[in-house]
Amino acid sequence: MTYIVLDLEFNGAYCKENHRFFNEIIEFGAVKLDEQLNMVDNFSVLVTPKISKKLNSHVSKLTHINMNELKASHSGFTEVLEDFKTFLGDGTLLSWGTSDVLVLMENYRYYYGGDELPFLRAYCNLQSYCEDALDYHDRSRQMGLSACAAQLGIGYEDGNLHRALTDAELTSLCFQKLFDPELYEKHVDNCDETFYRKITFKNYNIHDIRDPEVDRKQMFFNCDKCGRKALRKSKWRVKNKTFRARFHCFRCRREFEGRITFKKCFDSVKVIKRIAEISPRKPKNKLSDPTEITASDN
Ligand SMILES: [Zn+2]
Repeated sequence: MTYIVLDLEFNGAYCKENHRFFNEIIEFGAVKLDEQLNMVDNFSVLVTPKISKKLNSHVSKLTHINMNELKASHSGFTEVLEDFKTFLGDGTLLSWGTSDVLVLMENYRYYYGGDELPFLRAYCNLQSYCEDALDYHDRSRQMGLSACAAQLGIGYEDGNLHRALTDAELTSLCFQKLFDPELYEKHVDNCDETFYRKITFKNYNIHDIRDPEVDRKQMFFNCDKCGRKALRKSKWRVKNKTFRARFHCFRCRREFEGRITFKKCFDSVKVIKRIAEISPRKPKNKLSDPTEITASDN
């Protein structure tokens, strides 16, 4: 049993053939961990692109990879994939967030057709694993790899980040530090039909308050200053797929705006609540006053 931690670098290019944008993989980086989570091998290969004529400026700035290097690698996606399949063997694939797997699926589909990766047996999303292990609850924002490493006291050099192998190594270090067999079991999926439905499911915010998935019992707010249940003073309205209403706290004699989002995920609905201060009314043409307080996360 081995763990293969993968990180990909990719470049967005317009594919004339399919009339749409395509995330073309330009680098594979992977680390192999044995059962005791020792790093025993690695895989680091640049891929000569077929569709990208040039690299997006943010990609070259982030990765410091240039087109000449990519051309010099003389291996296209299909050759590199064959080598990567050998490296993966029957190990479990792990990556920080699902985007690398989705991009791998996108590239595979382009060259081979089909919506699945037949060589993939099991997969674990280490971003959600680490968020869970660290009890990270900010549902409006996902935890970044460097933030996770920093929290765990893992040192890294900024300049080397965003290269596939470095990111895969950093991800592996986070995994080693946070390894817990029970938690891991919860986060690893067999790559069956359900897995592909889950990984391609696009989360969305429910915008209709009559949607049966909207749990009305959740639509209350406690005052963020004193903790007491606040009284709703207005009807719910919808803005940016968030339900909002004015609330009043009798103890603090204050009003605030309660904002609640119901995020529909593959197998659950996540409830995100926020309290925003109500700013004093201003003339309509003074929209961009920088001192105006519009939101507070506390
Ligand atoms: Zn209060």
